[in-house]
Amino acid sequence: MSNKQKRYFLSESEIPAQWYNIQADMVNKPEPMLDPVTREPITVERLSKLISVEAARQELNTTDRWIDIPEPVLEMYRYYRSTPLVRAYGLEEALGTPARIYFKNESVSPVGSHKLNSALPQAYYCKQEGCTNITTETGAGQWGCALSYASKVFGLECAVYQVKISYEQKPYRRSVMQAFGAQVTPSPSMSTRAGKDILTKYPNHQGSLGTAISEAVELAVTTPGCKYALGSVMGHVSLHQTIIGLEAEKQLQMAGDYPDVVIGCFGGGSNFSGIAFPFMRHNICDGKKTRFVAAEPESCPKLTRGKFCYDYGDETGYTPLMPMFSLGHQFKPANIHAGGLRYHGAGVIVSQLIKDGLMEAVDISQLRSFEAGLMFAKAEGIVPAPESCHAIAAAIDEALRCKESGEEKVILFCLSGHGLMDMSAYDQYISGSLGNYTISDEEIEKNVSAL
Ligand SMILES: *Cc1c(COP(=O)(O)O)cnc(C)c1O
Repeated sequence: MSNKQKRYFLSESEIPAQWYNIQADMVNKPEPMLDPVTREPITVERLSKLISVEAARQELNTTDRWIDIPEPVLEMYRYYRSTPLVRAYGLEEALGTPARIYFKNESVSPVGSHKLNSALPQAYYCKQEGCTNITTETGAGQWGCALSYASKVFGLECAVYQVKISYEQKPYRRSVMQAFGAQVTPSPSMSTRAGKDILTKYPNHQGSLGTAISEAVELAVTTPGCKYALGSVMGHVSLHQTIIGLEAEKQLQMAGDYPDVVIGCFGGGSNFSGIAFPFMRHNICDGKKTRFVAAEPESCPKLTRGKFCYDYGDETGYTPLMPMFSLGHQFKPANIHAGGLRYHGAGVIVSQLIKDGLMEAVDISQLRSFEAGLMFAKAEGIVPAPESCHAIAAAIDEALRCKESGEEKVILFCLSGHGLMDMSAYDQYISGSLGNYTISDEEIEKNVSAL
């Protein structure tokens, strides 16, 4: 080990001061999002009734390649960034692969995941624009924790709708949000019209990101001084997350490497986009041939088995209609432990990139993801988030293919978060009480044909 450098960091002045906007470089721009009422292409004015004006501008910006990170956000980034780029010698050895495996460790952020990278700018813009309150949804709770903290940093009141099943199963994340001063409500709830409608129709609804988004959106548009913030799916969230890949690019240069394969787990696409887009720009602009692999759960396979169509981002249909790969906005995903991956749609930018063949997707079963996560934990000393385990499983598969072929590929994946709040899930896996969830073609067809 003595001569091997394991971790790569950037100095403060080397941390990128701009995000990368892939929309500027895309040959085929994403098709427009549509206003849910008029069915006209969405405008900044319309979108900013929901989210901050600056986030709305970024969402629809298809021309500026680089977007400045505001100084107060950069200042907060500097408290935990750069995050380490780690050469996974331990995992390489455990696999006996000739591949060189690197991971970008986003679990070192104060809230334990990459989500803070977007929570900070979103809260900052809301404050700048004179808001007093912010509201959002959260699944497993990582996004809710990130936004609760970012709200505290910039002086906003934060209300979070948490998917009911996670609220009950992951009480510690709820406590963390409350520790940062947020108000947390399980969704579906009786506090909104959307929640009441859902509960009247399905009294035992366990909640989904779709129901929680409906409730948060309703609260935002009916409360003066309150804006909504989304933790994934939207283009501006992916934009903010490009700090991950931009740092990784510089850190890999220090290591003298460039990735052949870049992998991220995929819920709504933000950590995947964050690590992938800065490298994808060299495929689009400089003829590089890197492969980009999104790892999604077998139980929620919108990329590998969903349909490309216009669909809503939430269960009730309050959000703009988005052209994306989807399982249908009323799809009720199985209760897997990777709560952050239980979302029905893929977001417009990634969906266009898949259509254009610029990236690919694989699906990973729940048991396989935990098996990979435990192998990683033993080899690298970090217990990964159940979501991140999907990226690890895909990276292991790539590394094992290299072992067969003898290729010395460079594999980079995003460790989107740690799993220290998910130990009950690991407990269940270790004691053998976890299973897999597959979904039939008929079930997918039933949901997407309703669109
Ligand atoms: C939310 C979350 C995800 C999934 O969301 P993306 O937007 O697809 O990145 C993955 N990993 C962790 C740790 C998360 O918190």
